[in-house]
Amino acid sequence: MENSILLLCYLIGSITFIVGLKMLSHPLSARKGNLVAAAGMIITIFATLFLYTNHEGQHLHNYLWIFAGLAIGTVVGTLAAKRVQMTAMPEMVSMFNGMGGACAMLISLIEHNNDPAADTGKMAIIILGMIIGTISFAGSVIAWGKLNGSIKDRTIPAGQAINFILLGGVAVLSVMVLTGMAATMPVLFYGILALAALYGVLFVMPIGGADMPVVISLLNSFTGVAAAFGGFLYNNPVMLTGGILVGSAGTILTILMCQAMNRSLKNVLIGSFGGAKAGASGAAKEQGNYKEISLSDTAVLMAYASKVMIIPGYGLAVAQAQHTCHELEKVLHEKGVEVSYGIHPVAGRMPGHMNVLLAEADVSYDRLLEMEDANDQMGTTSVVLILGANDVVNPAAKEDPASPIYGMPILEVEKADHVIVNKRSMKPGYAGIENELFFRPKTSMLFGDAKKMLQSLVTELKSV
Ligand code: NDP
Repeated sequence: MENSILLLCYLIGSITFIVGLKMLSHPLSARKGNLVAAAGMIITIFATLFLYTNHEGQHLHNYLWIFAGLAIGTVVGTLAAKRVQMTAMPEMVSMFNGMGGACAMLISLIEHNNDPAADTGKMAIIILGMIIGTISFAGSVIAWGKLNGSIKDRTIPAGQAINFILLGGVAVLSVMVLTGMAATMPVLFYGILALAALYGVLFVMPIGGADMPVVISLLNSFTGVAAAFGGFLYNNPVMLTGGILVGSAGTILTILMCQAMNRSLKNVLIGSFGGAKAGASGAAKEQGNYKEISLSDTAVLMAYASKVMIIPGYGLAVAQAQHTCHELEKVLHEKGVEVSYGIHPVAGRMPGHMNVLLAEADVSYDRLLEMEDANDQMGTTSVVLILGANDVVNPAAKEDPASPIYGMPILEVEKADHVIVNKRSMKPGYAGIENELFFRPKTSMLFGDAKKMLQSLVTELKSV
């Protein structure tokens, strides 16, 4: 009877994960989707704690340890999520992803410890879960450091060769453990762990410039796959379903990010792309002069435009200007101006960053245009207002084969009649490269913090 209730709870858990994931695909339902999946997770955790019995019919007994762990994890997770600044969200997501990988790694270590002479099938699952979980953990920690700026991109001499050797080493040691050699040399098992951790670090370390979104999605899918191996190991259907869902969602996201960056998945998997940052196209070019535009001229230009497209970028998140941006949109709309948002898939610092940000400010989803649609409409747009975006509108991606972002599709803002760029200075964006767009004839710079600038612009527009 208990077992049937447990299985029913697992079924409910699996269904809530699938429904929650589906709801996450639309900003309007995303929050509820998160809650639905979290409720399912709570049901499955407590069902496992109180209803699970092992093959000898015994319940779990070490509740003190389990609840102490749950309490610590809940307090740390809740505080971290409540205190995190919106701008630090991407690195927190990366760290949480790494924690998933670390869990899978620890599960494998513990299960190996419990049963060092496990049969080949079980040992293969233990090893695979450990390898993928460890790579995901180590890689996510590096990604966390890169996103918060504490770890700089480093090109590692002969990095690709080293990565291949490390993977080869992992494969050889795994075969040795599987053929029973670890019985006399337990160090072999821990050797796999060490090499996988090193690979995780070295594989993410050189990836820089604009290529991080691909890696973040890939690490996300690794964590899912590692968790699925945990599900196999414990014969736990809900862990398996959850792992497969995260693994496949992460894989789909990786493919989408590859398309957005115009990189092949093969390049990503062998960690061969884009380490070089600024300067790959030589020293910064002499760019000439840029022209500035005043707030009142901007207001007049926008008030009399027929169509305005707003291009949000990371700076909008830094300034927390999404609500003011929505206000600007409403004021323009009242003046009969058609307003839309052009969303680049890698704008911001995490996949879907701009969608989340604008949804938070209740911007209607219908106004958000994906990159291709935005580019189709660019030719008929009177004014493009770029708010804290840089790399995603950099023409070097189309025009300069030596640029580290060459080949990445961009929002082709120069097809519009006027381009206004709001940022605080002439500093580069995440990829660390200059942006020639700022010096082009159609472009005018509107310097200042996005929020303050938008507040003043709204006031100015109301008086036009
Ligand atoms: P960028 O990082 O290229 O540019 C952001 C710009 O915002 C900066 O140039 C900065 O200029 C400006 N800015 C910062 N703060 C403010 C502020 N308060 N007010 C106004 N402007 C501000 O951002 P994009 O969104 O264009 O591109 C995203 C980049 O991040 C891409 O290279 C992408 O590959 C990378 N990336 C994306 C991830 C993802 O998953 N989406 C993950 C990791 C990296 P200034 O300092 O002069 O104000």
